[in-house]
Amino acid sequence: MNCKLCSALFQEFLEKSLCEEVITELETHMKTCKKCRVMLRTYTLTITLSQKVDPPCCVSTDKIDRLKKILLERFFTKQSAQEPSVR
Ligand SMILES: [Zn+2]
Repeated sequence: MNCKLCSALFQEFLEKSLCEEVITELETHMKTCKKCRVMLRTYTLTITLSQKVDPPCCVSTDKIDRLKKILLERFFTKQSAQEPSVR
């Protein structure tokens, strides 16, 4: 398991459509990888937000998809020192 793979599985992880074996691997990875933990949280939040709000006509699912992509890319390409503060 690595970070790229881990992030690629987030969606299925949240949809609970992964087999137990993979879930265990994901969780094991996230125990040791802070980046992925933070990212899963961010990802979950994004999903929750996009589901909670009945998408107003000005926000297309297109935009939400793009937002998710931006989030994922930000985590993996920039290696930024400043992670979003997570409580
Ligand atoms: Zn990771």
